[in-house]
Amino acid sequence: MQEILEQALKEGRAQIEKGEVASYIPELAKADKNHLGICIFTKEGERFEAGDTQTRFSIQSISKVISLAMALEKCGFERVFEKIGMEPSGDAFNSLIKLDMVSDAPYNPMINSGAIAVTGFLTEVVSFETMLEFARKLCMDPQIEVNRAVFYSEMENLSRNRAIAYLLESKGVIKTNVESCLELYVQMCSLNVTAKSLAGLGLVLANGGMHPESGARLLDPDVVRIVKTIIFTCGMYDGSGEFAVSVGIPTKSGVGGGLLSVVNKKMGIGIYGPSLDKKGNSIAGRAALKYLSEHLGLHMFAS
Ligand code: GLU
Repeated sequence: MQEILEQALKEGRAQIEKGEVASYIPELAKADKNHLGICIFTKEGERFEAGDTQTRFSIQSISKVISLAMALEKCGFERVFEKIGMEPSGDAFNSLIKLDMVSDAPYNPMINSGAIAVTGFLTEVVSFETMLEFARKLCMDPQIEVNRAVFYSEMENLSRNRAIAYLLESKGVIKTNVESCLELYVQMCSLNVTAKSLAGLGLVLANGGMHPESGARLLDPDVVRIVKTIIFTCGMYDGSGEFAVSVGIPTKSGVGGGLLSVVNKKMGIGIYGPSLDKKGNSIAGRAALKYLSEHLGLHMFAS
Protein backbone atom coordinates (compact mmCIF):
# COMPACT_ATOMS: atom_id res chain seq x y z
CA MET A 1 0.00 0.00 0.00
CA GLN A 2 2.75 2.47 0.95
CA GLU A 3 4.46 1.95 -2.41
CA ILE A 4 1.24 2.56 -4.31
CA LEU A 5 0.66 5.69 -2.23
CA GLU A 6 4.16 7.01 -2.98
CA GLN A 7 3.59 6.39 -6.67
CA ALA A 8 0.20 8.16 -6.49
CA LEU A 9 2.02 11.13 -4.95
CA LYS A 10 4.42 11.17 -7.92
CA GLU A 11 1.57 10.97 -10.42
CA GLY A 12 -0.10 13.87 -8.64
CA ARG A 13 3.04 16.01 -8.44
CA ALA A 14 3.49 15.69 -12.20
CA GLN A 15 0.21 17.64 -12.65
CA ILE A 16 0.85 20.50 -10.20
CA GLU A 17 2.24 22.92 -12.79
CA LYS A 18 -0.96 22.73 -14.87
CA GLY A 19 -3.08 24.26 -12.10
CA GLU A 20 -3.26 27.45 -10.03
CA VAL A 21 -4.03 28.19 -6.39
CA ALA A 22 -7.37 29.94 -5.71
CA SER A 23 -7.00 33.70 -5.51
CA TYR A 24 -10.55 35.08 -5.32
CA ILE A 25 -10.16 34.83 -1.54
CA PRO A 26 -6.80 36.68 -1.26
CA GLU A 27 -5.55 34.67 1.73
CA LEU A 28 -5.85 31.41 -0.27
CA ALA A 29 -3.39 32.76 -2.85
CA LYS A 30 -0.64 32.46 -0.21
CA ALA A 31 -0.80 28.64 -0.32
CA ASP A 32 2.28 26.81 -1.61
CA LYS A 33 1.21 25.42 -4.96
CA ASN A 34 3.73 22.58 -4.67
CA HIS A 35 2.25 21.05 -1.57
CA LEU A 36 0.70 17.63 -1.94
CA GLY A 37 -0.24 15.24 0.85
CA ILE A 38 -2.27 12.05 0.82
CA CYS A 39 -3.55 10.10 3.77
CA ILE A 40 -5.47 6.82 3.92
CA PHE A 41 -7.27 5.53 7.04
CA THR A 42 -8.69 2.02 6.70
CA LYS A 43 -11.50 0.42 8.65
CA GLU A 44 -9.02 -2.13 10.00
CA GLY A 45 -7.15 0.69 11.73
CA GLU A 46 -4.24 1.04 9.31
CA ARG A 47 -2.88 4.52 8.60
CA PHE A 48 -0.85 5.38 5.50
CA GLU A 49 0.47 8.79 4.55
CA ALA A 50 2.74 10.42 2.01
CA GLY A 51 3.84 13.98 1.35
CA ASP A 52 2.51 17.09 3.12
CA THR A 53 -0.01 15.50 5.45
CA GLN A 54 0.71 17.78 8.44
CA THR A 55 0.04 21.08 6.67
CA ARG A 56 -3.10 22.89 7.84
CA PHE A 57 -5.31 24.50 5.21
CA SER A 58 -8.89 25.76 5.15
CA ILE A 59 -11.54 23.14 4.54
CA GLN A 60 -13.67 25.47 2.34
CA SER A 61 -16.41 23.60 0.48
CA ILE A 62 -15.76 20.31 2.25
CA SER A 63 -17.44 21.92 5.28
CA LYS A 64 -20.66 21.62 3.24
CA VAL A 65 -20.58 17.90 4.02
CA ILE A 66 -20.40 18.56 7.77
CA SER A 67 -23.10 21.23 7.61
CA LEU A 68 -25.43 19.01 5.59
CA ALA A 69 -24.93 16.15 8.06
CA MET A 70 -25.75 18.43 11.00
CA ALA A 71 -28.80 19.91 9.25
CA LEU A 72 -30.15 16.42 8.49
CA GLU A 73 -29.54 15.36 12.09
CA LYS A 74 -31.17 18.45 13.60
CA CYS A 75 -33.87 19.44 11.10
CA GLY A 76 -34.62 16.16 9.30
CA PHE A 77 -34.79 15.15 5.65
CA GLU A 78 -38.19 16.76 4.86
CA ARG A 79 -37.23 20.19 6.10
CA VAL A 80 -33.81 20.23 4.42
CA PHE A 81 -34.97 18.98 1.02
CA GLU A 82 -38.21 20.95 0.95
CA LYS A 83 -36.23 23.98 -0.23
CA ILE A 84 -33.03 22.43 -1.62
CA GLY A 85 -32.71 20.00 -4.53
CA MET A 86 -30.58 16.89 -4.99
CA GLU A 87 -29.54 17.34 -8.61
CA PRO A 88 -26.12 18.24 -10.01
CA SER A 89 -26.28 21.81 -11.28
CA GLY A 90 -23.73 21.60 -14.07
CA ASP A 91 -22.78 25.17 -13.18
CA ALA A 92 -19.85 26.63 -11.24
CA PHE A 93 -19.96 26.33 -7.44
CA ASN A 94 -20.76 30.01 -6.92
CA SER A 95 -23.22 30.46 -9.76
CA LEU A 96 -26.56 32.10 -9.13
CA ILE A 97 -27.97 31.92 -12.65
CA LYS A 98 -30.22 28.89 -12.21
CA LEU A 99 -31.27 30.02 -8.75
CA ASP A 100 -32.60 33.24 -10.23
CA MET A 101 -33.85 32.11 -13.63
CA VAL A 102 -34.76 28.41 -13.45
CA SER A 103 -35.60 27.32 -9.93
CA ASP A 104 -36.42 28.93 -6.61
CA ALA A 105 -34.60 26.13 -4.83
CA PRO A 106 -30.81 25.70 -4.98
CA TYR A 107 -29.94 22.62 -7.05
CA ASN A 108 -28.06 20.77 -4.30
CA PRO A 109 -26.36 21.33 -0.91
CA MET A 110 -22.80 21.03 -2.30
CA ILE A 111 -22.84 24.29 -4.26
CA ASN A 112 -22.70 27.65 -2.51
CA SER A 113 -26.39 28.50 -2.86
CA GLY A 114 -27.44 25.14 -1.39
CA ALA A 115 -24.88 25.26 1.38
CA ILE A 116 -25.82 28.82 2.34
CA ALA A 117 -29.46 27.69 2.50
CA VAL A 118 -28.42 24.76 4.73
CA THR A 119 -26.53 27.21 6.93
CA GLY A 120 -29.72 29.29 7.17
CA PHE A 121 -31.45 26.30 8.80
CA LEU A 122 -28.45 25.68 11.04
CA THR A 123 -28.31 29.30 12.23
CA GLU A 124 -31.73 28.73 13.83
CA VAL A 125 -30.76 25.58 15.75
CA VAL A 126 -27.02 25.45 16.56
CA SER A 127 -24.15 27.73 17.56
CA PHE A 128 -20.80 27.88 15.80
CA GLU A 129 -19.20 26.27 18.89
CA THR A 130 -21.50 23.25 18.46
CA MET A 131 -20.57 23.03 14.77
CA LEU A 132 -16.86 23.23 15.63
CA GLU A 133 -17.15 20.39 18.16
CA PHE A 134 -19.11 18.35 15.61
CA ALA A 135 -16.43 18.94 12.94
CA ARG A 136 -13.67 17.92 15.38
CA LYS A 137 -15.48 14.68 16.22
CA LEU A 138 -16.31 13.72 12.64
CA CYS A 139 -12.75 14.43 11.48
CA MET A 140 -11.28 12.75 14.58
CA ASP A 141 -9.13 15.86 14.96
CA PRO A 142 -9.50 17.87 18.21
CA GLN A 143 -7.13 20.55 16.91
CA ILE A 144 -9.41 22.00 14.27
CA GLU A 145 -9.83 25.77 14.72
CA VAL A 146 -10.95 28.68 12.59
CA ASN A 147 -8.17 30.08 10.43
CA ARG A 148 -8.70 33.74 11.35
CA ALA A 149 -6.76 35.15 8.39
CA VAL A 150 -8.82 33.12 5.92
CA PHE A 151 -12.05 34.01 7.74
CA TYR A 152 -11.45 37.77 7.57
CA SER A 153 -10.16 37.56 4.02
CA GLU A 154 -13.35 35.82 2.88
CA MET A 155 -15.62 38.13 4.92
CA GLU A 156 -14.04 41.10 3.15
CA ASN A 157 -14.58 39.52 -0.28
CA LEU A 158 -18.06 38.17 0.11
CA SER A 159 -20.09 40.08 -2.49
CA ARG A 160 -21.02 37.04 -4.54
CA ASN A 161 -22.05 34.85 -1.61
CA ARG A 162 -23.86 37.83 -0.10
CA ALA A 163 -25.79 38.21 -3.38
CA ILE A 164 -26.69 34.51 -3.28
CA ALA A 165 -27.81 34.73 0.34
CA TYR A 166 -30.05 37.76 -0.22
CA LEU A 167 -31.50 36.15 -3.34
CA LEU A 168 -32.32 33.11 -1.18
CA GLU A 169 -33.96 35.40 1.36
CA SER A 170 -36.03 37.08 -1.37
CA LYS A 171 -37.28 33.63 -2.41
CA GLY A 172 -38.21 32.65 1.14
CA VAL A 173 -35.51 29.95 1.41
CA ILE A 174 -33.56 31.80 4.11
CA LYS A 175 -35.84 33.03 6.86
CA THR A 176 -33.23 33.88 9.44
CA ASN A 177 -30.81 36.81 9.71
CA VAL A 178 -28.82 36.75 6.47
CA GLU A 179 -25.62 38.26 7.89
CA SER A 180 -25.50 35.73 10.77
CA CYS A 181 -26.03 32.95 8.27
CA LEU A 182 -23.16 34.21 6.11
CA GLU A 183 -20.90 34.53 9.12
CA LEU A 184 -21.53 30.90 10.12
CA TYR A 185 -21.02 29.78 6.51
CA VAL A 186 -17.64 31.53 6.30
CA GLN A 187 -16.58 30.28 9.75
CA MET A 188 -17.23 26.73 8.60
CA CYS A 189 -15.32 27.29 5.34
CA SER A 190 -12.37 28.66 7.36
CA LEU A 191 -11.85 25.58 9.54
CA ASN A 192 -8.21 24.56 9.43
CA VAL A 193 -7.75 20.87 8.65
CA THR A 194 -5.03 18.52 7.38
CA ALA A 195 -5.18 15.68 4.88
CA LYS A 196 -5.42 13.44 7.97
CA SER A 197 -8.55 15.19 9.25
CA LEU A 198 -10.19 14.58 5.87
CA ALA A 199 -9.16 10.91 5.90
CA GLY A 200 -10.76 10.71 9.36
CA LEU A 201 -14.01 12.22 8.12
CA GLY A 202 -13.92 9.91 5.09
CA LEU A 203 -13.49 6.88 7.32
CA VAL A 204 -16.37 7.86 9.63
CA LEU A 205 -18.60 8.15 6.55
CA ALA A 206 -17.25 4.91 5.05
CA ASN A 207 -17.98 3.26 8.40
CA GLY A 208 -21.66 4.24 8.30
CA GLY A 209 -21.31 7.08 10.84
CA MET A 210 -19.56 5.08 13.59
CA HIS A 211 -16.26 6.10 15.16
CA PRO A 212 -13.85 3.45 13.85
CA GLU A 213 -12.08 2.92 17.17
CA SER A 214 -14.62 3.52 19.94
CA GLY A 215 -17.59 2.25 17.93
CA ALA A 216 -19.59 5.30 19.10
CA ARG A 217 -22.36 6.33 16.73
CA LEU A 218 -21.58 9.86 15.49
CA LEU A 219 -24.18 10.06 12.71
CA ASP A 220 -27.48 8.40 11.90
CA PRO A 221 -27.03 5.74 9.16
CA ASP A 222 -29.70 7.36 6.95
CA VAL A 223 -27.91 10.71 7.19
CA VAL A 224 -24.66 9.03 6.15
CA ARG A 225 -26.30 7.33 3.17
CA ILE A 226 -27.80 10.62 1.95
CA VAL A 227 -24.56 12.56 2.43
CA LYS A 228 -22.46 9.97 0.59
CA THR A 229 -24.87 9.83 -2.33
CA ILE A 230 -24.90 13.60 -2.70
CA ILE A 231 -21.11 13.74 -2.50
CA PHE A 232 -20.93 11.19 -5.32
CA THR A 233 -23.31 13.03 -7.64
CA CYS A 234 -22.46 16.64 -6.78
CA GLY A 235 -19.15 16.73 -4.86
CA MET A 236 -16.78 17.86 -7.60
CA TYR A 237 -18.63 20.94 -8.79
CA ASP A 238 -19.42 20.85 -12.50
CA GLY A 239 -16.81 18.10 -12.94
CA SER A 240 -18.78 15.58 -10.84
CA GLY A 241 -20.02 13.37 -13.70
CA GLU A 242 -16.67 12.98 -15.43
CA PHE A 243 -14.98 12.35 -12.07
CA ALA A 244 -17.53 9.66 -11.16
CA VAL A 245 -16.86 7.86 -14.44
CA SER A 246 -13.07 8.04 -14.40
CA VAL A 247 -12.25 7.83 -10.67
CA GLY A 248 -15.48 6.43 -9.22
CA ILE A 249 -14.90 7.34 -5.55
CA PRO A 250 -17.41 9.66 -3.82
CA THR A 251 -15.34 12.79 -3.23
CA LYS A 252 -15.91 16.37 -2.10
CA SER A 253 -13.44 19.07 -3.03
CA GLY A 254 -12.77 22.53 -1.63
CA VAL A 255 -11.01 25.52 -3.18
CA GLY A 256 -8.46 25.39 -0.35
CA GLY A 257 -7.10 22.31 -2.14
CA GLY A 258 -8.69 19.60 -0.03
CA LEU A 259 -10.29 16.38 -1.25
CA LEU A 260 -12.38 14.17 1.02
CA SER A 261 -12.97 10.68 -0.39
CA VAL A 262 -15.12 7.86 0.90
CA VAL A 263 -14.48 4.29 -0.16
CA ASN A 264 -17.61 2.74 1.23
CA LYS A 265 -17.12 0.21 4.04
CA LYS A 266 -13.37 0.29 3.46
CA MET A 267 -11.46 3.54 3.94
CA GLY A 268 -11.31 7.31 4.06
CA ILE A 269 -8.82 9.21 1.90
CA GLY A 270 -7.80 12.79 2.59
CA ILE A 271 -5.73 14.87 0.20
CA TYR A 272 -4.23 18.35 0.26
CA GLY A 273 -3.05 19.85 -3.01
CA PRO A 274 -3.85 23.55 -3.48
CA SER A 275 -3.06 23.74 -7.20
CA LEU A 276 -6.55 23.70 -8.74
CA ASP A 277 -7.93 22.90 -12.18
CA LYS A 278 -10.33 25.29 -13.97
CA LYS A 279 -13.33 23.89 -12.10
CA GLY A 280 -11.77 24.45 -8.67
CA ASN A 281 -10.72 20.84 -7.93
CA SER A 282 -7.21 19.88 -6.77
CA ILE A 283 -5.44 18.96 -9.99
CA ALA A 284 -2.73 16.85 -8.36
CA GLY A 285 -5.19 15.36 -5.90
CA ARG A 286 -7.41 14.24 -8.72
CA ALA A 287 -4.52 12.54 -10.55
CA ALA A 288 -3.37 10.85 -7.34
CA LEU A 289 -6.88 9.59 -6.61
CA LYS A 290 -7.25 8.24 -10.13
CA TYR A 291 -4.03 6.32 -9.66
CA LEU A 292 -5.19 4.94 -6.30
CA SER A 293 -8.57 4.01 -7.75
CA GLU A 294 -6.98 2.09 -10.61
CA HIS A 295 -4.27 0.36 -8.59
CA LEU A 296 -6.31 -0.50 -5.50
CA GLY A 297 -9.53 -1.29 -7.39
CA LEU A 298 -11.49 1.45 -5.59
CA HIS A 299 -13.89 2.52 -8.38
CA MET A 300 -17.45 2.02 -7.08
CA PHE A 301 -18.25 -0.07 -10.11
CA ALA A 302 -14.87 -1.76 -10.55
CA SER A 303 -15.29 -5.15 -12.17
N1 GLU B 1 -15.71 29.66 0.90
C1 GLU B 1 -15.75 29.37 -0.50
C2 GLU B 1 -16.82 30.16 -1.19
O1 GLU B 1 -17.90 30.25 -0.69
C3 GLU B 1 -15.99 27.90 -0.68
C4 GLU B 1 -15.96 27.52 -2.10
C5 GLU B 1 -15.44 26.16 -2.37
O2 GLU B 1 -14.56 25.62 -1.71
O3 GLU B 1 -15.95 25.63 -3.35
O4 GLU B 1 -16.64 30.74 -2.21
